Amino acid sequence: MVIPLKSPDKVVVPFSAAEVDALNRFQRCGFVHPFTCANSHEGDRDLVATRAGWICCHCDYRQDWAHRAMLKEPVNPMADVLRLTP
Ligand SMILES: [Zn+2]
Repeated sequence: MVIPLKSPDKVVVPFSAAEVDALNRFQRCGFVHPFTCANSHEGDRDLVATRAGWICCHCDYRQDWAHRAMLKEPVNPMADVLRLTP
């Protein structure tokens, strides 16, 4: 059994329903590198947040923590650059 490392900058399992939704929104936002499976295999390696932690859909890899900053609404750092001007 792995004991999660406690840190004010991390959230650990079990994740709440709101945390799962926020983590998956962050994971799929498209402008940050997602958490990925540490194992080498075919198929998608992006992790999916669940109340029991991150899971890989193609193997038994699990992760029991996330960065606390991932709970906030992701903000695209290129938003101002990409905004069309009139
Ligand atoms: Zn995997």
